[in-house]
Amino acid sequence: MLPTFVRSTPDGTETGDFLALDLGGTNFRVLLVRVSGNGKQKVEMENQIYAIPENIMRGSGTELFDHIAECLANFLEKLGIKDKKLPLGFTFSFPCLQTKLDESFLVSWTKGFKASGVEGRDVVGLLRKAIKKRGDFDIDIVAVINDTVGTMMTCGYDDHHCEIGLIVGTGTNACYMEEMRHLELVDGDEGRMCVNMEWGAFGDDGSLDDIRTEFDREIDAGSLNPGKQLFEKMISGMYIGELVRLILVKMAKDGLLFQGHTTPDLLTTGHFQTSFTEHICGLASAEQVLRELGLDPSPEDCVATQRVCQIVSTRAAHLCAATLAAVLRQIRDNKATERLFARRLNKMVRLLVPDCDVRFLRSEDGSGKGAAMVTAVAYRLAKQHAERQRILNTLRLNRDQLLEVKKRMEEEMNRGLAKKTHATATVKMLPTFVRSTPDGTERGDFLALDLGGTNFRVLLVRVRSGKRRSVEMHNKIYTIPQDITQGTGEELFDHIVHCIADFVEYMGMKGASLPLGFTFSFPCHQTQLDQGILIKWTKGFKASGCEGEDVATLLKDAIHRSEDFDLDVVAVVNDTVGTMMTCGYEDPQCEVGLIVGTGTNACYMEEMSNVELVDGDEGRMCVNMEWGAFGDRGELDDLCTEFDRAVDDQSTYPGKQRYEKMISGMYLGEIVRNVLLDFTAKGLLFRGKLSERLKTRGIFETKFLSQIESDRLALRQVRSILQHLGLTSSTCDDSILVKEVCSVVSKRAAQLCGAGLSAVVDKIRLNRGLEKLSITVGVDGTLYKLHPHFATIMRETLKDLAPNCEVTLVQSEDGSGKGAALITAVACRLRDAGK
Ligand code: ADP
Ligand code: MG
Repeated sequence: MLPTFVRSTPDGTETGDFLALDLGGTNFRVLLVRVSGNGKQKVEMENQIYAIPENIMRGSGTELFDHIAECLANFLEKLGIKDKKLPLGFTFSFPCLQTKLDESFLVSWTKGFKASGVEGRDVVGLLRKAIKKRGDFDIDIVAVINDTVGTMMTCGYDDHHCEIGLIVGTGTNACYMEEMRHLELVDGDEGRMCVNMEWGAFGDDGSLDDIRTEFDREIDAGSLNPGKQLFEKMISGMYIGELVRLILVKMAKDGLLFQGHTTPDLLTTGHFQTSFTEHICGLASAEQVLRELGLDPSPEDCVATQRVCQIVSTRAAHLCAATLAAVLRQIRDNKATERLFARRLNKMVRLLVPDCDVRFLRSEDGSGKGAAMVTAVAYRLAKQHAERQRILNTLRLNRDQLLEVKKRMEEEMNRGLAKKTHATATVKMLPTFVRSTPDGTERGDFLALDLGGTNFRVLLVRVRSGKRRSVEMHNKIYTIPQDITQGTGEELFDHIVHCIADFVEYMGMKGASLPLGFTFSFPCHQTQLDQGILIKWTKGFKASGCEGEDVATLLKDAIHRSEDFDLDVVAVVNDTVGTMMTCGYEDPQCEVGLIVGTGTNACYMEEMSNVELVDGDEGRMCVNMEWGAFGDRGELDDLCTEFDRAVDDQSTYPGKQRYEKMISGMYLGEIVRNVLLDFTAKGLLFRGKLSERLKTRGIFETKFLSQIESDRLALRQVRSILQHLGLTSSTCDDSILVKEVCSVVSKRAAQLCGAGLSAVVDKIRLNRGLEKLSITVGVDGTLYKLHPHFATIMRETLKDLAPNCEVTLVQSEDGSGKGAALITAVACRLRDAGK
């Protein structure tokens, strides 16, 4: 099970001229293979056989490789391509220990080769040295491969499902595409790699002893390598004829055949060739073959000989099928030969693994064409890889860039807080009039409204104080139809009131006039707690006549219009503040709220002396940063990619919420989709086939990023997600790439978010003149909570960019419901105390 470092089979888009050297087969050859992919899919070959004189095979390694270089030079000269520096694949069919695609150490010579000083050396290095020494041409040795791999790759060019290579010739061997995570000899878990099984050695540990016969033992004993390659000795062409011969000799000696006669030919090793078995089995004249061996067979002798041949070759085919079945089973669990032999092999394989649909393709010239194919694939992969990485690098941020984000966020925060610069600041730093976190004495029943998240909800929250201190919630989700979010303000608020009425009735509380907290998760100007003037809609809302208006008044007006019930609107609450308050109910160190869901935003407790928009210098007030708009003056332009610009252009509010568009759930999937579109258009993905599905806005939801990036997911499952998305032409490599795109995009989001948060916590630390600050951040939002790596990456970024802050991130449950009620409760407590 040797790794080959061949990671992909051909996809048919390979093109170019490739050289191949084939050493270790019957002939030594040099080949030029012209591959034209993309539509035409044609392979043309020129090849030249060269002799390797006996004295060179057994001379020094230097002589051997000089000779190979010489032959190559001659070949290039003849074709007039000596000045071209073409890529070359080297089929070197000897046992090797491969360490890279272009590095392979010869373990030991076989097949009559014995050149000194080569065993234990890298054969690519030796060849390169010999070529360099000549100095009259240059080539680029890309790959060194084994003939089984070549066989698989040659077929793979015509049939993309070809994932197994099988050789049954002089020897026997197989290779197949194995999952990287099963290959402990090679680092990395992603994708697959071709494994050279070297299965001829199966049985060398005694595991086949119970089925080996006296004839197998005799063949082994008389071979050049006793005890080795025992499986091969039962199967391959080098031994089948010999097996038949031994059986015939034994039968003759026992008087069961040829009337007890033998001939010198029949008694000579190697005189019954394997090809005879095909002749005889194929009902060609058994008699003729036997007569050529000097025998005088009776008709019964012929029939018996035929039977022996059948049995020996059937056994070989069945053994081969059985091991192949094991390979298929392995492939399924992850996810060419002679005629009669082939038929038996097919039949047996179908019998042994009925649930695998196997096609056998006879590979033509695997060791020559195959080496060129491996080289072509390696070339394509390298070129495509470089191009993909170039594009993905535009989405990768380094530490300096993140520090720059932190610095600019800090500047923008100060600009938002200061009266003079507030108007032009992108990060608005809105005062919320929330001055204190809960102290546990709050109590009562409160209604809460939650608008601006994925769902519109109405909640009833029971807050208990004292020993039974607890919060109990009931809520009902309502939909807001698309046409209402895009209609008039009156329609929107009438709809909201209608939902409240339904809920109050549903809870059996009709008639009660409860205090209400209105979680309204859009940027609002507040001059007091129970008022919020909508600055601008975000997140796809567009109801007319609301911007510039107080949403509490809009709500109260709608309540009056309904003449159905009355409510006491106590607080207009942003969901970030609700999040901070919910978490603050349990943890007094919680002074920051963060949301990473549909959108992203943050709030924190700022010194009143810094909040210039509100009079008074005493104490603190929670500031709703509205940081999603960071970048709207161009502060992030140097980090934005073409994909960010595309997502922005297609959004409801182009040019707005640029930071949010790089971070939050509403946009990450769209960024990924735009990258995938670009990759596909450039032929780097999905074989360059643009599907209608992929062109559809919004199909790549952010939740798919979480699924695809999950460590527990096998690539097969990534593929099925893609298939579910209608991206059916995806291959295993496509899945790897899609996963990489997802993780680059989500990593950038988490890092940007962490950089912004590092500015916040460092500001709090400096506000308080502390060397070290210990602080808790309450976080809400499905992206943050369900993405497998977002939280970790954000935490790492924070640690790196704000090393003097010890930040605890705590998931906050339902800040926009519970939090709004708590803010209302605190306000009622303060109000009651005032009275
Ligand atoms: P909101 O922010 O609107 O109050 P959520 O916090 O539930 O609501 O966030 C919803 C957003 O989370 C959606 O935009 C969606 O893209 C994203 N999302 C949903 N499921 C997942 C998931 N499994 N992984 C990552 N993001 C998700
Ligand atoms: Mg929310």
